[in-house]
Amino acid sequence: DPIDWPTKDLVTHRASATPNRTAMVAADAGNEATYRELDAAVDAVAADFDRRLDADPTVATLLPTRPETGTLLFATMRLGATLAPLNVELDAATLRAQCATVEADLLVCEPSTRDLAAEAATCPVVSVADLPVQPDGASADRESDVTPAALSRTDTQLVVFTSGTTSEPKGVRLTVGNLVASAVASSYRLGVLPTDRWLVCLPTYHMGGLAPFVRSALYGTAVVVQRSFDADATQRVIAEHGATGVSLVPTMLSRLLDAGWEPPSALRFVLLGGGPATEALVDRCRERGVPVCPTYGMTETASQIATARPETAFDYAGTVGQPLAFTDVTVVSDGEPCDPGERGEIVVDGPTVTSGYLSGDGAAFGEFGFRTGDLGYRDGDGRLWVEGRVDDRIVTGGENVDAGTVAAAVRDHRAVEDAAVVGLPDEEWGQRVAALVVGDVTPAAVREHCAGRLAAYEVPKTVRVVDGLPRTPSGTVDREAVRSRLRTASESDESA
Ligand code: ATP
Ligand code: MG
Repeated sequence: DPIDWPTKDLVTHRASATPNRTAMVAADAGNEATYRELDAAVDAVAADFDRRLDADPTVATLLPTRPETGTLLFATMRLGATLAPLNVELDAATLRAQCATVEADLLVCEPSTRDLAAEAATCPVVSVADLPVQPDGASADRESDVTPAALSRTDTQLVVFTSGTTSEPKGVRLTVGNLVASAVASSYRLGVLPTDRWLVCLPTYHMGGLAPFVRSALYGTAVVVQRSFDADATQRVIAEHGATGVSLVPTMLSRLLDAGWEPPSALRFVLLGGGPATEALVDRCRERGVPVCPTYGMTETASQIATARPETAFDYAGTVGQPLAFTDVTVVSDGEPCDPGERGEIVVDGPTVTSGYLSGDGAAFGEFGFRTGDLGYRDGDGRLWVEGRVDDRIVTGGENVDAGTVAAAVRDHRAVEDAAVVGLPDEEWGQRVAALVVGDVTPAAVREHCAGRLAAYEVPKTVRVVDGLPRTPSGTVDREAVRSRLRTASESDESA
């Protein structure tokens, strides 16, 4: 029978349209599932949840990157329920608070997270191994146990927590409409081939790791899941599984290049997001023939806002390209839209924008849409350039300093591997520019390098060289920890 698309979930549709195509590959376990098999697993898990839980449940997970997160996502979609994947790197007290905030009815764990789940749970806990996530061949042909829920664009499908870079992680509601709109817009920019295989080695409790499941199920292509990134193992998986796309954050891509990676010809794109793709990194990609697609996105927009294709990335190193289809980006300064080249807060409107935070929206929504809290500008052709966070803007002696610009200048030093720039309270200047630097370099050399590239007031007054930048459990730079490490430096001779 023709499927009543789009009111049924994506896997119901796929199992009818392309039952024998590969849906998911577990690179570590070495097994695969077709859409028919995935459909049977989704059905069995949905039926299990239906028996176990009341109507409209929220299922939380405490799982590292595994394909079963995709199965659980589609099982909750089939049931009209909500999935809330929690970050396995967080501590038990934070997770317990999140479990309560999402009002979880069930928490799904695995052996590595069993103890943490027991401490964090405000609801019953079940191991993923005790759910019918891998039904056998016989059950694949069985009659369905649950009637797929009619999807509504505005139903909350996912609750995903932000990375917690600027404050405590916030729970973001994402609707079925947000997810499908994001998948369509992503494919509009990147294209789709029937042979597509998207490698996920990013955490599946953030949007970067979750979104490929939706994109692939929409088009009947495959997701290859690798439990964790490793420069050598990931190169092997890309080659052996014929990956046509992979999502990475900049540090992962640098490590692949450091390890001598030569991308195979089947690879169509490296979707690079989560943080700035520096000009140096983009240049290395051009030299090595890496089809890099720098992207800017966030949890609140179900992932990508703007994405540059390789041609654009190479010609305009540092840009994240044009906004995706149907995503309106307005750069706003003093309440007014900016002219091309003028810097302001990036504000986003469109079908991928969250219906709101669990904790209330505060000042997040304004006249032009959702306020990202990020700083940037659009050039004369509309390409977007992201320059850091609004809160990272430093005012020193009455002058505005952009931390991102200073950080870029510091990173530009040959011996600097990484750097974070913040403003520290200063009696004389109001704030002073301070840099935490990783690399085989002295504070004096960093300051001298910056003096040749920046205005005098932009040159960091405090520089401290450390072994590594403090990071949040999600891998973003922990700004508060950077500040506190620099505050202790201010009394030492590393300060100017
Ligand atoms: P929190 O909202 O809790 O402070 P977070 O903003 O880091 O944490 P995410 O939603 O995971 O949580 O990350 C989105 C943010 O990552 C963006 O708002 C932006 O600051 C940063 N980011 C993403 N892509 C890029 C990029 N290409 N260039 C610069 N920054 C980026
Ligand atoms: Mg954020």
